[in-house]
Amino acid sequence: MTTTTAADRAQTREELSRTAYDLLVIGGGILGTSVTWMAAQAGLRVAMVDAGDFAGATSSASSKLVHGGLRYLQTGNVRLVAENHRERRALAADIAPHLVKPLTFLVPIYKGGPHGAAKLGAGVFLYSALSVFGDGMGKVITPHQALAKVPALRTEGLRAAAVYGDHQMNDSRVAVMTVRAAVDAGAVVLNHAEVVGLRKTGGTVTGADLRDRLDGAEFGVSARLVLNATGPWVDHLRRMEAPDAAPSIRLSKGAHLVLRRHEPWKAALTTPIDKYRVSFAIPWEDHLLLGTTDEAYEGDPGGVRATEADISQILDEAGHAVRDTQLRREDITYAFAGLRVLPGGPGQVTAAKRETVVTRGAGGMLSVAGGKWTTYRHIGRHVLDTLAHLPGRPLGDDLADILPAVPLPGLASPDAVALRLWTDRDPGARMDPLVARHLATHYGSIAFDLARLIRDNPALGERIHPDGPDIWAQAVYARDREWAATVDDVVRRRTTLTVRGLDTPDVRDRIAALLT
Ligand SMILES: Cc1cc2nc3c(=O)[nH]c(=O)nc-3n(C[C@H](O)[C@H](O)[C@H](O)COP(=O)(O)OP(=O)(O)OC[C@H]3O[C@@H](n4cnc5c(N)ncnc54)[C@H](O)[C@@H]3O)c2cc1C
Repeated sequence: MTTTTAADRAQTREELSRTAYDLLVIGGGILGTSVTWMAAQAGLRVAMVDAGDFAGATSSASSKLVHGGLRYLQTGNVRLVAENHRERRALAADIAPHLVKPLTFLVPIYKGGPHGAAKLGAGVFLYSALSVFGDGMGKVITPHQALAKVPALRTEGLRAAAVYGDHQMNDSRVAVMTVRAAVDAGAVVLNHAEVVGLRKTGGTVTGADLRDRLDGAEFGVSARLVLNATGPWVDHLRRMEAPDAAPSIRLSKGAHLVLRRHEPWKAALTTPIDKYRVSFAIPWEDHLLLGTTDEAYEGDPGGVRATEADISQILDEAGHAVRDTQLRREDITYAFAGLRVLPGGPGQVTAAKRETVVTRGAGGMLSVAGGKWTTYRHIGRHVLDTLAHLPGRPLGDDLADILPAVPLPGLASPDAVALRLWTDRDPGARMDPLVARHLATHYGSIAFDLARLIRDNPALGERIHPDGPDIWAQAVYARDREWAATVDDVVRRRTTLTVRGLDTPDVRDRIAALLT
C-alpha cells in the first residue's frame, strides 16, 4: 500500500491492528527505516510507524553528506573511517548511484589557522588511501587553483588548500526511497501515527497504542518484539516502558542555513574553525548549504529550531573562508536544525559503531540511537543481527539471509535517465533539461513514471514555482506513491520547494488543494 488518501490510511491502520507482527519499529527516521528494510528482507512480518513524516526529524536535518568522516582521523580512528568509506562507496556505486553524487572538498589553509599545510596534506592523503584512492588522491593545491573551484573563496592570507573526495545527497529523498524499498520487501508503514503507550503482556512489551495525528483515530499494533528507533525521543519511549529508566543519551543541536548561490561552485569547503570544529559550505540543490553548530540541547526534541543566534554563528563561521557577498542575510532561503544523539548514561549493552547505542529495557524493548546517515545499512544489519540473537530468540530461528547489495528503487545512471527524459519527446515539446536533470537525480528511473503522468496530463509537467525545477507531477506522485499527507511532507521533503524558499502561501494553498 503506497497511496495516502484518508481511506487508504484507514485501511493501513486496519491492517496494522489485525496482523500479529514479528517486529514493530517505532520511528521512521533513517535508522528505523533501515532496520525495517533489513527485517523485511530477512522474511519478517514488520511494521513501522512514525509520529510525524518519515525522516521528518533528524534524518532530514543533516549536512547531507555521505562521508568517511575526515575529522575521525584526528582521533586516530582509522578503522572507522575505512568502514565509513566502504559504505559510502557502496551507496554511490551499487545501492543509490541515482541519488548519491560525488563532491570534491577543499580545506582552506589560512595564515595563523588551527592546522598547517603539512598536517592537512598528510591527513587528506591518508583519508584518500583509506578508500583505496577510489576518489583520487588527497593532495594540496595552490590558492589560485582553489579559487578556480570556489569563486567565493576568501584569498586574503590563504596559503593553500587540501583536497579530498566524498559524496552528498538529498537526505529526505534518499529516506523516502528507502521507505519504499522496505515496503517493496513486504513491510507495512504508516506516518503521522504516534505511539502514545506500550502494550505489555506479563511485563513484556508486545505492541503499542497509537493515535493518528491527522484524524485522531486510535488503534493498536501487536508484535513479538518492539524496536524503539525514535532518535532524540529514545528516552521518552524508554520511560513508557519503565518510568524510572535512566537517561541513555545526551542531545546536541546542529543548525544549518540554505542560501541562494551567486556563482557555480565546483567544490565544497570544510573550513577548520578551531582544532576540533569545522564549518561546511556545500553546493547543494543549486544553493549553498552552510553549517553546522554544535550545542548541548535539553528542551523538547520537537521544538528544535535554528535561532537568530545560530544564524549569526553560522554566517560568522562561514565568513572565515567565504566572501561576504555570498553571505548576505537576504539570500537565506531556509534555516533548519536537528539533534545529534550522543551516547551517555548507563545501560549500554552493545555498540554497533562508536556512536550507535543499542540498549534493552526491562520489558524487552530494544532501543537504538546515534550513528551516521552514511552507515545506515550497516547499522540496520547490525541491529537486526542483535534482534535475531537475543536470549530466548523472540524472533525465532528462521530469518533468511539478506542479499549483500539490494539497490534502492529507481537504480539507474542519472545521466542516462536525464538524456532519455529529454529525447523521449519531440523537439519543440521537450522537457526542460534542468527539470529532466532534477527528476533523474531525485528519482532515478522512477522519473519515467513521472513522465507518464505528464504524458497523460501535460499540465503536470509545469513547474510548481517558476524559480525552481520541481513540477506538479512530483506533488501528485508524492501524494499517491510516497505517503505525503500534509503540505509540509510535499514542500519540505518530497520536493525541494521549501529549501529553495519557494513554498509561498500560493504554492502551499495549491498543494493543500491537491492533497484534499
Ligand atoms: C546537525 C546534524 C548533521 C548531520 N549530518 C550528517 C551527515 O552529513 N552525514 C551523516 O552520515 N550523518 C549526519 N548526521 C547524523 C544523521 O543525521 C543521524 O544519525 C540520523 O538521521 C539519525 O536517524 P534516526 O532515525 O535515529 O533519528 P530521526 O530521524 O530523528 O528519527 C526518529 C523518528 O522517531 C519518530 N518518533 C518520535 N517519537 C515517536 C513516537 N512516540 N511514535 C512514533 N514515532 C516517534 C520521530 O517523528 C522521528 O521521525 C547529522 C546529524 C545532525 C544532528
